[in-house]
Amino acid sequence: MTKMSWTAGTQCVAKADHRKAKAGELLYHKGDILTIIDSSSRKGFYEAKHNSTGEEGLISASNVREREALRVDPSLSLMPWFHGKISGPEAVNKLQPAEDGLFLVRESIRHPGDYVLCISVCGEVIHYRVIYQDNKLTIDNTQFFYNLIDMIEFYSKNKGSIATTLLKPKQKHGTKSAELELSKTGWLLDITNLTLGENIGEGEFGAVYEGEYMGQKVAVKTIKCDVTAQAFLQETTVMTKLQHKNLVRLLGVILHKGLHIVTELMTKGNLVNFLRTRGRSVVNSAQLIRFSLDVCEGMEYLESKKLVHRDLAARNVLVSDDSVAKVSDFGLTKVDSKTSDKAKLPIKWTAPEALKKEKFSTKSDVWSYGVLLWEIFSYGRQPYPKMSLKEVKDKVEAGYRMEAPEECPPGVYLLMRLCWEQEPRRRPGFPKLREKLEREVSRLSPGSEHREGVGSGSGC
Ligand code: ADP
Repeated sequence: MTKMSWTAGTQCVAKADHRKAKAGELLYHKGDILTIIDSSSRKGFYEAKHNSTGEEGLISASNVREREALRVDPSLSLMPWFHGKISGPEAVNKLQPAEDGLFLVRESIRHPGDYVLCISVCGEVIHYRVIYQDNKLTIDNTQFFYNLIDMIEFYSKNKGSIATTLLKPKQKHGTKSAELELSKTGWLLDITNLTLGENIGEGEFGAVYEGEYMGQKVAVKTIKCDVTAQAFLQETTVMTKLQHKNLVRLLGVILHKGLHIVTELMTKGNLVNFLRTRGRSVVNSAQLIRFSLDVCEGMEYLESKKLVHRDLAARNVLVSDDSVAKVSDFGLTKVDSKTSDKAKLPIKWTAPEALKKEKFSTKSDVWSYGVLLWEIFSYGRQPYPKMSLKEVKDKVEAGYRMEAPEECPPGVYLLMRLCWEQEPRRRPGFPKLREKLEREVSRLSPGSEHREGVGSGSGC
């Protein structure tokens, strides 16, 4: 059925190859991602842009389907074949009826911390003990793996020293294969199309590399630990729902020796480093306001989706080649407002009610946004300079607020103070903050409606 309601920005997946394009039509392969630009006067066709080649042309609506967002689903698993702590006989039971290459992984009951790979072969089940040694996993002391995902991937392609290659995972009851769901929805990318470049950042859980995916410059976050990868799957799921010019865009994921999250490349890195390395002489106030407005618009969009970021800070804002600021790092983003690991909260950015009662809301994001404004206008200084975390917590609770950064426009400082109202209800929402910032923009750069470069000689 042809769907006629796609709007500009909709991401589609090609259902089949289109190699013999007529004049004005776009060439693409099955699985390619295409972005709708506009409707077309030709019935059943849209103007679209190929996400990888950048080429534009007409596509037939019947040849593509909309790329769906993944549902936030805790049963989505990167390791659906992992059954946790079950005994050998239980594993044998689960691998019935016997089928060569049917397998599962369990945690050893006799040797806690070790795993066992159980494979059905010739009507029997063989149990291979997986030993954890020097931070790596091994069955035969010859092949070593970073994690279970890595190990299963290897033995699915190579027999190595085990009885058979792994052919079919025995899925744990109640889990869904993340690989399958990602692939069905068009978010699974192919590692053979990826060229990895230099390391451009270190995250808490893995390194970030620059790369190229089918001609497009990308950033790749690699997560090797399987438990962490599983947690990041949630961040990725959230990102599949989001499409906004001020949010770092997810292009897809690659499953290979763990999880690789592929996003658009933000060549100017994170906002803290951007501001610290350039400083006042290079970046003018008008640009600072534009960054503030960019983040505010991204957050307004998140608010409209009823999502709470929980970790908004300048280190989690990235800057694109054309100096647009975009919010990233949705690791803590949650739809609901309950439960979090208190020990991990970024205290200097977190609203008092979130620190005390774990009450996260858009209004606690607004508090963090106030701190982010302070970071922007102080050119990347650490907030609450020279104060310990305990001091910050106690003093802020008692009503202390940071002073205005040097040369900060009074209107902007006023906004920070509004964001830091003790009572969440009294803080403005992001739409209101945007309106006020827009007024500041016209005050600081009258007549300029378009984005200009950063101050002279910046090379930005
Ligand atoms: P963390 O785990 O600390 O939240 P990330 O793993 O998201 O951080 O990123 C670490 C660093 O890698 C960032 O501060 C930034 O400098 C760089 N980085 C992350 N994503 C991108 C991207 N899409 N483009 C360019 N650089 C990035």
